[in-house]
Amino acid sequence: MDVEVRGKALREVSASGSHYNIGVSIGKQCRDQALRAHKRFRASVDRMPGTTIDKVKAQAKLSLPLSREFYPEFVEEMEGYADGTGMEFDLVYAMLCDQPLGVGKGCTDIAVNAQWTKDDVVFAAHNEDVEPYHSSDVCIARITPKDEPGFIGVCYGGLYPTVGMNASGISLTGNALVPNDTRMGIPKMFPVRKVLKAKGIYDALTWSMPPARGHSFNNIVCDVNGEIYSMEGSATTFDALYGHDGYLVHTNHYLSPRMWRFEEDMHTRMSSVIRYNRASKLFKRHLGQVDLHTFKEVFSDHVGHPESICRHPDPRLGEEDQTMTIFSAVFDLTRKAMWVCAGNPCEGEFVKHEL
Ligand SMILES: [Zn+2]
Repeated sequence: MDVEVRGKALREVSASGSHYNIGVSIGKQCRDQALRAHKRFRASVDRMPGTTIDKVKAQAKLSLPLSREFYPEFVEEMEGYADGTGMEFDLVYAMLCDQPLGVGKGCTDIAVNAQWTKDDVVFAAHNEDVEPYHSSDVCIARITPKDEPGFIGVCYGGLYPTVGMNASGISLTGNALVPNDTRMGIPKMFPVRKVLKAKGIYDALTWSMPPARGHSFNNIVCDVNGEIYSMEGSATTFDALYGHDGYLVHTNHYLSPRMWRFEEDMHTRMSSVIRYNRASKLFKRHLGQVDLHTFKEVFSDHVGHPESICRHPDPRLGEEDQTMTIFSAVFDLTRKAMWVCAGNPCEGEFVKHEL
């Protein structure tokens, strides 16, 4: 069932049971999204001189034993997804493996605990900023494995959460970083998905940074107690930034001095710098009265346009280099609800989805 939001809609899918059966079910429901992603993946491989799809699959497969050891159930979901979509598993796995983040790309995140919010609730909030064509690649998914708490999230192709919150009150949001120490290892999507099976903050933080990872997002992990962590990872190390002030803002560059030497090229992070400072300044004004409207306002900001917090495609750039806010999501961890605005938050409305 699609929810219409001023002409825009995000598909909703759900699946439960064994991990393999979840994969099959989501694969069938999101086959069109998977096939479109596959077509683009092939085209991107074709653009790389000297690379073939077989080489990419073989390279990706090197990390599969590590991924299986870290989170075998997610591999089972992917095996089911391959069968549900009719795609080859090796291809599904290769497509999940880490894609480099383009120059200037990336998202904006804010998390805040109950001390600063109007209704004494904990919020984790996120703008998803990627190539505009990804607008039709995401859907709202409710995934309830037989052996996990279950979560609601916004997932690429129905299976790969970019943000989510589980029934134990753990949320995973966050943004992309560009570390200079990437290596063969567990793909960065695996920790994201595994955090969403955590029943408490200890497991969530542990799983957000597996030592055998090949890359890392900045994984923002929060719990219902208002514990707020920004896990700034590279492939080989991390720093755990804590929301000492009761809130936290993050964009796409390393904030911890410990991590500065892992920044691949700070010259490409100007949008990130502007969005970080701007979001911090705007959000501070609302402390004590933070509610859904706060996020709508901050996430719709256009200073630095088009590479602003609310990002719009820059017509001067080619399709692959453009960035757009394809959705905005606010998790209320206390009341276990997810508010999602499809498309740019300056235009759309947030719609409530219960866990
Ligand atoms: Zn806008």
